[in-house]
Amino acid sequence: MKSSLVILYHREPHDEIIKDGKIHYVRKKSPNGIVPTLKSFFADVNQGTWIAWKQINESQKDDFEERVNIEGEANYSVRRIPLNDEQVKQFYHITSKEAFWPILHSFPYHFTSETAEWENFKNINRLFAEAACEEAAEDAIIWIHDYNLWLAPQYIRELKPDARIAFFHHTPFPSVDVFNILPWRDEIVESLLCCDIVGFHIPRYSENFVNVARSLKPVKVLKQEAVDGHMTPVGIALAEPEMTTQLSYKGQVVNIDAFPVGTNPQFIQSVLDQIETKNRLYQIKEELGDKKLIIAAGRVDYVKGNEEKLLAYSRLLEENEELRGKVSFVMTCVQAAAGMRVYDTAQSTIEQLVGQINGRFAKLDWMPVRLFTQPIPLPHLIAYYKAADICWTTPLRDGLNLVAKEYVVAHEGQDGVLVLSEFVGAAVELPDAVLTNPYSVGKMDQAIKQALEMSPEEQKERMSKMYQTVTTYDVKYWADRLLGKFKELKHETI
Ligand code: UDP
Repeated sequence: MKSSLVILYHREPHDEIIKDGKIHYVRKKSPNGIVPTLKSFFADVNQGTWIAWKQINESQKDDFEERVNIEGEANYSVRRIPLNDEQVKQFYHITSKEAFWPILHSFPYHFTSETAEWENFKNINRLFAEAACEEAAEDAIIWIHDYNLWLAPQYIRELKPDARIAFFHHTPFPSVDVFNILPWRDEIVESLLCCDIVGFHIPRYSENFVNVARSLKPVKVLKQEAVDGHMTPVGIALAEPEMTTQLSYKGQVVNIDAFPVGTNPQFIQSVLDQIETKNRLYQIKEELGDKKLIIAAGRVDYVKGNEEKLLAYSRLLEENEELRGKVSFVMTCVQAAAGMRVYDTAQSTIEQLVGQINGRFAKLDWMPVRLFTQPIPLPHLIAYYKAADICWTTPLRDGLNLVAKEYVVAHEGQDGVLVLSEFVGAAVELPDAVLTNPYSVGKMDQAIKQALEMSPEEQKERMSKMYQTVTTYDVKYWADRLLGKFKELKHETI
């Protein structure tokens, strides 16, 4: 049976386990991330397909299963595009991470196109598009995710001119001056304009895309709307008062959408209610004594502003002797996958800075920073969130930043302080955080001091407002809203 919903996402939605010498495809162990939400879109359909790539070597070629079914998840199957090591390296580690990633996050200094193999990128996108067209029923929605698949919409449109094509960007989308550095900008924009709807987290990103399209193609703006609802329209770095919601190009209508992904408050609450979490929390608090706990959770990546944060922490201890021994900073900085050479320097800088801070300030009974380079499982992280007086999440750039929302949920509107970068998507939803500018030494210093000194009354006032926002606009709200849009979506020509 053909599928009425086809999702193209670079990662597979399952884990593989070997039992009795046989591979079993099972539901992912990790409950967080976007994958469970995307899978929930299949709940309403008779048959769906998820298309992802799978790295295989020469010896696995003959037994490769193109289509697999996940145990206990009957209404969709997974179609896998087999890629060899070299293709993955070029597509994922080099073109995506060394050329696109720095541009998307407004770091043109890190951009390099010399090593990127554009033909390989095009071929892989074409393979995804061909698979999608084979799987899709006549009136299917084909929903493509993220910049790795920027060229898929155009290939799909060529093969299936009436397809309903949707696209969602999980990253920021940069301003026109930065995006246009990409030597392949024309092909990318031409492809995105083949979609019936292009989605982003926030209006600033969608406006950036519209400006790029207007700079490169003769598009017509059909509709503009004021930004209302829960997103701040003015006054902070990523605020945008109005946005274009419809364009036309080559006689076709392109809808533009901006709405941030949410977190899953029910899941976080269920973890908080577990006895294991309560025990863990008790242990963390026992260990802390009267020290204040600051938590930072994220990945090794120059966009995450880890270095700037560690330098701010070092200045905090240097300038405020009374805080030494009185604060504990837990930083998870998850190491990048092997082969991601762009992150090597970022990783060693973090390790050096942590070494310097601990070397300079540690006492026999006090370690100023505790760095974890392996991911903390989400249930454990939630206990740390709950115990933490402050969540310090100040990327230089981030599409959204789920950590901020998870911390807010974990505190149930009661206490805690969120120090949040103005340059992450979530900042436009959370004006009651202590918003700061990670590019500014002065603003960073001021924000962490303000957080450490905030009264319990002010904490409660701010956190209860943010709790209301985060629990209302959760991941289910995001999914239901988009499902509504997909139901009405037409491939329109004018
Ligand atoms: N995370 C985790 N363990 C860690 C660090 C992070 O489980 O040690 C999770 C965190 O809970 C969040 C996700 O990783 O759900 C990071 O998402 P975010 O949007 O903040 O950043 P991204 O990594 O997607 O850029």
